[in-house]
Amino acid sequence: MAQILRGDLVADALCRRIAAEIVALRTDHGIVPGLAVVLVGEDPPSQVYVGRKVVKAREVGIRSIEHRLPAETGEDELLALIAGLNADPAVHGILIQLPLPPQISAAKVLDAIDPAKDVDGFHPVNVGRLSTGGDGLIPCTPLGCMLLLEEVVTDFRGLKAVVIGKSNIVGKPVALLLLERECTVTVTHIHTRNLPELVRAADIVVVAAGAPRLVRGDWVKPGAIVIDVGITRVVDGDGKARLVGDVAADEMDHAAVVTPVPRGVGPMTIACLLSNTVKAARPRS
Ligand code: NAD
Repeated sequence: MAQILRGDLVADALCRRIAAEIVALRTDHGIVPGLAVVLVGEDPPSQVYVGRKVVKAREVGIRSIEHRLPAETGEDELLALIAGLNADPAVHGILIQLPLPPQISAAKVLDAIDPAKDVDGFHPVNVGRLSTGGDGLIPCTPLGCMLLLEEVVTDFRGLKAVVIGKSNIVGKPVALLLLERECTVTVTHIHTRNLPELVRAADIVVVAAGAPRLVRGDWVKPGAIVIDVGITRVVDGDGKARLVGDVAADEMDHAAVVTPVPRGVGPMTIACLLSNTVKAARPRS
């Protein structure tokens, strides 16, 4: 049987370490990490995500400041808010919940965030640092995937990794992080030919496609480690909704390790957001 690598448990342990560091930051430096969370509009899933992030932030001792703006907010208004948050010394991290309404350019808004406060790691400066192996803020979900992998892999060098999905928020940064650890990385996507064959050669599979049950049991080689980032809400015949991943979890007995959905990568994403906020708040030496 494959080991089920529970992201919620790893995230809990990380949150305990973060809480302890926040106590030390306060005692030794008088710093209380501050996270500004900006939500524009009433998109229901975004409201749930923001609510969860704010609750978790407060649990570990981060001062979380919510800015909920109406759906018709203009781009200039949001840019002015970001300029204020950039200048506010009590704000160490700024998170703009995506998606934004159509009248606002997400690229323009993300570019306006001070890279030192960009706790989502989406600013071009942080993307550049990631691609050159520098010490920037790393996007939360990819960082969470790496921390999960570190639970079960001691030496990444030379391992074959296949990443399914090439988005800017998951696939590409995960691939760069695996490459940085000296894995041999293949990045795949919807137009990739012979995907099952490529996956069959992999020691590590990270799947972030948003395609339920895409990765089947006979795609995965015995002893492989499978990180399932996908989250899709499906409604069963009885009308009940549940979250499913991109991996056919019931076919993974021969894998060494599989992350579940839910309670896998999702909780790690939030824990890594908190970890990035603390990183951004640390005094610069
Ligand atoms: P995206 O839509 O931006 O990108 C999906 C990628 O997967 C694309 O590169 C596409 O080419 C590829 N893809 C789609 N279907 C495929 C298929 N059948 N075969 C091969 N490649 C395929 O999505 P995203 O934002 O990267 O998110 C991917 C999934 O991860 C979604 O289910 C999303 O909900 C989930 N997600 C989870 C977390 C978390 O915290 N657990 C965070 C972010 C995203």
